[in-house]
Formats: sequence, C-alpha cells, structure tokens
Amino acid sequence: MELPFEIGPQFEGERIRKDDMYIELGGPKVKAKAELAKLRKADEIEDGRVEVKGLDIGEMEEGGRYPFGIFVEVAGEKLEEDMEGVVERRIHEYCNFIEGFMHLNQRYDIWCRLSKEAHAKGFNLKYMGQALIKLFKSELPIIEKMQVTFITDEKEVVEFVGNAKKTYEARDARARALSEEEVDEFYACLMCQSFAPTHVCIITPERMSLCGSISWLEGRAATRADPKGTNFPVQKGELLDAIKGEYAGVNEVVAERSDGETERCYLHSMFGYPHTSCGCFESLAFYIPEVDGIGVVHREYPGDTPIGVPFSRLAAQTGGGRQGEGILGMAIEYMRSRKFLQADGGWDRIVWLPKSAKEMVGDAIPEELRERIAMEDDATDIDSLKAFLEKKAHPVVQRWGFEVTEELKNKLIAYIEKREGEIYPEEAAKELGISEDQVMKVIDGLREDGILE
Ligand code: SF4
Repeated sequence: MELPFEIGPQFEGERIRKDDMYIELGGPKVKAKAELAKLRKADEIEDGRVEVKGLDIGEMEEGGRYPFGIFVEVAGEKLEEDMEGVVERRIHEYCNFIEGFMHLNQRYDIWCRLSKEAHAKGFNLKYMGQALIKLFKSELPIIEKMQVTFITDEKEVVEFVGNAKKTYEARDARARALSEEEVDEFYACLMCQSFAPTHVCIITPERMSLCGSISWLEGRAATRADPKGTNFPVQKGELLDAIKGEYAGVNEVVAERSDGETERCYLHSMFGYPHTSCGCFESLAFYIPEVDGIGVVHREYPGDTPIGVPFSRLAAQTGGGRQGEGILGMAIEYMRSRKFLQADGGWDRIVWLPKSAKEMVGDAIPEELRERIAMEDDATDIDSLKAFLEKKAHPVVQRWGFEVTEELKNKLIAYIEKREGEIYPEEAAKELGISEDQVMKVIDGLREDGILE
C-alpha cells in the first residue's frame, strides 16, 4: 500500500500546534482514550490487518476532538509476556515517526493530533495502521505478525479503556515483587531524548519509569529483544547512599548519556541530585516550603494545587531533561514503591494529593496517614492546607520549629557508632525519641558539618 505521507525518525519531536491541527484524538478534553499492546499466538493474528471501529479521519469534523483507542496485537516465537509493555511504549515512538501526526503521553492518557497538511494529503487511520506495522516489524524483527485496531466509537473506547486498565494493573503487580537489592543491574531508557536530550530514565524494580510504562521486568525484556534499541542495562556499581538511592554505576551512565549535564542521580529523593524529568511523567511531586511538605499532582487532575497553579504550570517548570530540585516527574506506580521518596520522608512528608490520585494508590498509603493527607476539598490554598495539617496532626507539623541541636547530633553519632556505621531510620527514631523524618534532618545536619558523607 502506498502511503500518502512519509515515515521516519526525522519527524520525531514534530509538534502540531492548535492552529495547524485538523483533529485531536484523546487528549485532556476527551475522557475515553487508551493504548494497549497484547501478545497473541500466531494463529490468532491476521498479519497486516488494520481495523477501524468507529469513524475514520475522513468522517470526522475539522477541529473536533474524539475518543481514541489504539490496540496493537503481536505474535512472534521469541516474544515474551514482559515485552507487551515495551511494544506498547513503542507506539508513542513510531506514531511520532509519521509525518503530520503527533502522539503524547501513554497508556490511558494518550493525546494525539493530526495536522491539516496531513489530512489534505489523504491521511486516514487505515494508512496509519499500515505505517505502524511497517515500523514495528522493521525496528523489532522479533515481531513476526501484527494487527492493529483503532477505536473511535465512544462506547467501544470506554470498554477498551476498562480492559486496558486491568492489563496495566496486572503488569505492574508482577513487577512489584522484586527489590533493588536482589538484582545486579537496572535498565535505562533514552526514548525521550528526541525532545529531552539530556534525559536518562533509570528503571529499577522499585522505581518504575516516570512515564509509568516500563517496569524493570519490561526494561529487561526490551534489552534482550532489541539490544541496539533505546533500553540498555546499567550495572549498579557501588552503593553510595542506601537511603537516597545513589549508585556509582548509575551516576556513570547518567553522566555519559546526558553529555555530562547530569553528574549524579538520587533515585529516591527530590532534593540534591534528583532523577531528571522529560515531559511524559504521569505525576509530579512538588515541594511546598510553607509547610515543609510535598504535594503530588497527576496529569489527569485539571484543577489548581494548593500553591495556586495546575499540573501544566508545574510541568513547565521541570521537564526537558532537567534535574529540578524540589520538583520531580514520576510514575503513579512509584507511589507504591517501598522506597517512595524515602530520603525525603516518604509518605510522612506527603501533605496534598488530588482525590482521584488518592483513590488510585490509597492502599499504598500507610493507614495512619490516609486521613491526614489533604485533598482538593480539604485545602485550596496554603492557609487552609496549614490549618488542615495542624488539625489532623500530620507528621510534617513536627518539623515546624524543629531544631537540629548539638545534643541530637551527638545522640545520632553515638547510635551510628553502636550500629558500626549503619543507620536504620525507624530504629534510630525510636532511640532518639523523634520521628524518622526528624532523623533525616539530623543526618542532613551531620552532612553539612562534614561528619557524614
Ligand atoms: S519516560 Fe523514560 S522510560 Fe518512558 S519512554 Fe521516556 S525515557 Fe523511556
């Protein structure tokens, strides 16, 4: 089939502005949208088949916004189940190889635009499916058979989204069983360097990629399937800081692949040398100095945060591969990690979260904190947030006015000596009669004094 548009990596990074857009598929103003890849048996696939359920581009109105589902089914002898997430993430990459088509975000949050120019050339979803099949099979030769279904009928997209969400959850749950300590290597992803040239994603069993699409298992599968692709293994090297999650091997890779722009990377802290942010993060953690706490907001939440700005304004402050201290792009799944921002106090430090995000990760929030974290109905600005936290005796309240005294420093030094150089924050907190969070403050004080590294 001859395509009425060109395809290739030269179109990656092409942005389609509102004035140049013919139609929008998915996006923030459309509720039902998702993409999904599934592994099938060879006899379940009709190789090369492209189906459109609902309207194709020619039947859509200029300037319209439509529900959108992209369903990719693949078969291949060497494909393993963990490859599903990787194939799915490549939908983003290969859609952006298509002239006049823009694809942003991932999973249940895709946002696509078609340019007026591409429409004038005769673009339709049937052609687009053919282009995707061609790209997938040439870039990932382990895919032997592939079919694509586009869904634009609203009812069908809603059903598709429900099924896709069950698949994402099952995939994420599989990856939760592992820890950073029990693996020898992590994985990196450079896919977003097309628009964030210094961004290097480090994926560990306890830190899902910030787009929320690639777990450690999927990073490993991608590396095996496509050794020359955008994913590759990262040897952990020496553990430099167990609490912040700093590894010599990670620092080396990050420095090399960011062209020296990022020299160090803390996997579990948003201060000092946090992980870089690209632009496809599912959520953002942001420091709120007035309460010395951390707020979290996700892409799907349209309202303002208590600091008076929405997700989009915060996102503009980071991204592009920057290492933004106090503002961090992350996967929603990372909030389920045992190491979630552990160097900054973890859940004890989270003070605000939209209700919809709280519903998504509610079971990962320690029970005693669930009612103490404010949502949009509890706090709309800094004053109401402060009042809520005080009323609920949120752990951050202890930080207000907390002073790192010489006495506390000496007590912690005595504890460290007794533990032969090790620090177990929970145990140290009990011994010093302060919270874990305050232990971290005392550690920071000892670091500033040059007593701890
Ligand atoms: S956010 Fe990270 S893992 Fe996801 S595509 Fe971009 S670089 Fe890869």
